[in-house]
Amino acid sequence: MVSITGIIEIIHIINDKVKDFEMKTIGILGGMSPESTASYYLEINRAVNLALGGNASAKLLISSVDFEEIVQCQKAGDWQKAGKILAEQAKLLEQAGADGILLATNTMHKVARPIIDNISVPFLHILDAVADSIKAKGLNKVALLGTAFTMSDNFYRDGLIERGITPVVPDEETQKEIHRIIFEELCIGKILPQSKTFYLKTIEKLTALGAEGVILGCTEIGLLINQADSTLPFFDTALLHSEMAVDFVLEK
Ligand code: GLU
Repeated sequence: MVSITGIIEIIHIINDKVKDFEMKTIGILGGMSPESTASYYLEINRAVNLALGGNASAKLLISSVDFEEIVQCQKAGDWQKAGKILAEQAKLLEQAGADGILLATNTMHKVARPIIDNISVPFLHILDAVADSIKAKGLNKVALLGTAFTMSDNFYRDGLIERGITPVVPDEETQKEIHRIIFEELCIGKILPQSKTFYLKTIEKLTALGAEGVILGCTEIGLLINQADSTLPFFDTALLHSEMAVDFVLEK
């Protein structure tokens, strides 16, 4: 039996905890593309409001880069330059008060290392968000859709394998079209029905190869297809990464 004084004590402890709660500030490296940064912005704010009520919204800072500059680095294979640009912006976010940094793109996690090395606050890695969610569903083999860099370079696939997930990717021709649609359409806000059909057909083919779920491994893909389009579980990286940010700012 807990005594009355015991109960009062517990109430005081809870009250103190509530009083001590201060939301953290998240720093977003965004603009890659602006279309998906907008999704992050809304998702994080909506979830914080849902958790805290009233007119609560997230404390966040965004450094929105010129995406063309980053795309030119990608095309030239100059990842060092891209890494330098993003590492500098991450530091500025930290200096402006960000308690943690979120890089709102899968592809640019190729240069996660120089960013992490340039900051002293936590870096919320997109692969941790996605792998945790896949494992929570008890799945292992999942289709991976994203830019050609994400689907074919080692940084992302190895990152998944290290976290216990086996990625299945489309053939080279299909990868090219998936990639083209991302840059020529989704990143500039074009949502076309034929592209949606192409993505869903690709998912069917990967299911035949044993995929038990699909990683929407590009933060714009959720603008084209969503869970209602398939019976296979979707892992939307923009949503999962936003949830990770919300847990971080609310200190869960
Ligand atoms: N947002 C995309 C991604 O998640 C692609 C744009 C980029 O190259 O950063 O990979």
